Amino acid sequence: MIAPERKCPGCRRPFRPAAGDLWRPFCSERCQLIDLGAWFTERHAIPGEAADDDAGAQPTTPDQEDAP
Ligand SMILES: [Zn+2]
Repeated sequence: MIAPERKCPGCRRPFRPAAGDLWRPFCSERCQLIDLGAWFTERHAIPGEAADDDAGAQPTTPDQEDAP
């Protein structure tokens, strides 16, 4: 059985995964770790970015409550 050539999601280079490849769908352990790292970085960036955007879009007018 010959495996078809695939594109590594990590380095985006075509490679032929071997039977029993430990890093599938990646071509190597290195690419697997890099992809995991990028995934975690993205997850951490989303909450911070959203909170920052919300605070900036919200208009605050505390003076109007005190005005007669
Ligand atoms: Zn790769």
